[in-house]
Amino acid sequence: MKPLYSIFLIPIMVCLQQCSYSQNQGHSPKNSIMDTTKKDNPVYSNTDSSTVNLTEEEWKKILPADIYHIARQKGTERPWTSKFESFKETGTYYCAACGNPLFKSDTKFESGCGWPSFYEPISKTSIIYLPDSTHGMQRVETQCGRCKAHLGHVFEDGPPPTGLRYCINGVILDFKKAEEADKKYREKPQNNK
Ligand SMILES: [Zn+2]
Repeated sequence: MKPLYSIFLIPIMVCLQQCSYSQNQGHSPKNSIMDTTKKDNPVYSNTDSSTVNLTEEEWKKILPADIYHIARQKGTERPWTSKFESFKETGTYYCAACGNPLFKSDTKFESGCGWPSFYEPISKTSIIYLPDSTHGMQRVETQCGRCKAHLGHVFEDGPPPTGLRYCINGVILDFKKAEEADKKYREKPQNNK
């Protein structure tokens, strides 16, 4: 008696799609919709303000290593290493872990401390404050109000009008330029009388 072997020939359609990321450099479409999502990060949104509660394991899966280190392990980037330290573009800074709006570029100032610095958050709920007594110092830690990512610290030696200095790790910031219309408005004050 011949053993009957059922041969399962499962036709696997392997779609070998070539990932051709040959984007038209320097030809960005006008009025392009701002990216409010990130492919690998299901919680990332610039508009959803609902609280994000993920486990550390989940965060580790969706965040790049450098962002995970700052956001979840309260890391600190080396001073003077952030491109945002002396960055002067007009726009909004978002939490790189969840997309929550954190700071407007017009509240950014040159603190000389080596990290991007702001004197005021975008709203009262955009940031959470926690006492931090690590490293033999009494400081106030700042966390993202939506996902509780570690951002940096806030000190009371900032410029007017708040007198505060939000000293923020550039790694945890995502920057998006102001819309063209908004920019024009800022550059050319309306003179329609
Ligand atoms: Zn966040």
